[in-house]
Amino acid sequence: MLNLAVILRESAACRPEAPALLHDGGTMTYAELDARSDAVAAALLTRGVGPGDPVALQAPNIPEFPVAYYGILKTGAVVVPLNVLLRAPEVAHQLRDSGTRTLITWAGAADEAAKGAAKADVTEVFVIHAAADSPGRPFTDLTTPVTEPVPLADRSPTDIAAIVYTSGTTGVPKGAELTHFQMYMNADIPGRLFEIKAEDVVLTVLPLFHVYGMSSAMNLGIRFGCALSLVPRFTPEKVLAAIERDRATIFDGVPTMFGALLAYTDEHSYDTSSLRVCVSGGDAIPAHVFDAFEQQFQVPILEGYGMTETASTITFNPGPDDRRPYSVGRPVWGVEVQVWDDEGRRMPPGRNHIGEFVTRGYQTMRGYHGHPRATAEAFEGGWFHTGDLGYADADGFLFIVDRKKELIIRGGYNVYPREVEEVLYRHPGVREAAVVGVPDERLGEEVKAIIVARPGHALTVEEIVDYCRERVAAYKYPRLVEFRDALPLTGTGKVLKKDLV
Ligand code: ATP
Ligand code: MG
Repeated sequence: MLNLAVILRESAACRPEAPALLHDGGTMTYAELDARSDAVAAALLTRGVGPGDPVALQAPNIPEFPVAYYGILKTGAVVVPLNVLLRAPEVAHQLRDSGTRTLITWAGAADEAAKGAAKADVTEVFVIHAAADSPGRPFTDLTTPVTEPVPLADRSPTDIAAIVYTSGTTGVPKGAELTHFQMYMNADIPGRLFEIKAEDVVLTVLPLFHVYGMSSAMNLGIRFGCALSLVPRFTPEKVLAAIERDRATIFDGVPTMFGALLAYTDEHSYDTSSLRVCVSGGDAIPAHVFDAFEQQFQVPILEGYGMTETASTITFNPGPDDRRPYSVGRPVWGVEVQVWDDEGRRMPPGRNHIGEFVTRGYQTMRGYHGHPRATAEAFEGGWFHTGDLGYADADGFLFIVDRKKELIIRGGYNVYPREVEEVLYRHPGVREAAVVGVPDERLGEEVKAIIVARPGHALTVEEIVDYCRERVAAYKYPRLVEFRDALPLTGTGKVLKKDLV
């Protein structure tokens, strides 16, 4: 029997009075979080929700998120987290795709969510922080305290705990079926690699509706009895203020967050001396940002690599003493990763042997919910195809080069956008850069750079083109350059390249 909610039950038993959630100066203890999620579980059970039923949860990083999340899990139902930024047709699609009938949403997203729910088979909508004119019922209908602890529904390790949608960076988000065992291990193993302790305070700003924040911040922190310092929405000042106020020791972020924190602290100062480890994942972190952040904040960044389909982490830098900067680390326990060529042959180590990462092991999803054909394609040859290109070094550390779909083929030559981005990030006037391939009649694709300049730097197209031409081969440097005020981001803070083409 394994129910993922055991991570909360056990921490509540060991440390009932310890803080589980720190939010805007308030505190919720482990005993309270356990009791409040019991209330949600009991109310859902009374309404006929039970093992295997999908229940959608759409909220930012507020205390109600973990309360509802563990409440749903306790009943044996399946959590379907939804991004708070989804528009009604996207909500409708994910609700239909997952077969959801019960939706718990939040006032800030409720109008779009209710419109989406009306186009799906949803029978009940509950709204966190509901106002008088909110659609559906208030979430408080599910929070009446219960006197007896709710027993955790008996689940087998291969039962589905959550259907989590991918970020939609390359196309329509896909619903990955993640099991109780897979998610348990993903909370447990990475935490051990950086010797997490109950006294740690985990700064939790990565959205909890995405697998990275859910596994690597929330479940990991709850598994080890830590306090989660919840920040509902990323802004550099909110994150820095929370680190200072809650004395956060661990910060998990995506690269755009590290870049934004760095830029902000050029002019503002906060006490971040409590930090002992930062974790970067979700996207490639430019070497320049990595180095400058470590220098400025005096804290090591451990880079990991993961994806929704693997419930977050598959490789990680064991650390902080045994890490390899710019590498995404080695496969964690229970996971194998190999580098394959297009014919499915394993490639030897070495930076000249770039191929696709394939993975298998306990950390891999059961499949894409309701899409057996897409699942079969993704598991061709018995291994899950990540769609990411990279290589391994002789010690088994992996280096990501780029996504297969983002590789640019210009006049028959391969251009890896990341290599050009790394060059652009070294230009003193560049704050953010993204390189994409745009259609070109003669060459098939042309290389284009989209740049966000640092304040006070008036950059020109010629300057950027010349800078790159001096540093990379002739077929790689961008001929087209566009300046923007900001790059488009996914709800999880990754650069949305498909919107730049
Ligand atoms: P979609 O699958 O819908 O197009 P997505 O792949 O961005 O979106 P996620 O599951 O959130 O959805 O992200 C997983 C991907 O993020 C990986 O396949 C990889 O491309 C990228 N990624 C994760 N960690 C890293 C890292 N450390 N360095 C570079 N890329 C990373
Ligand atoms: Mg993906």
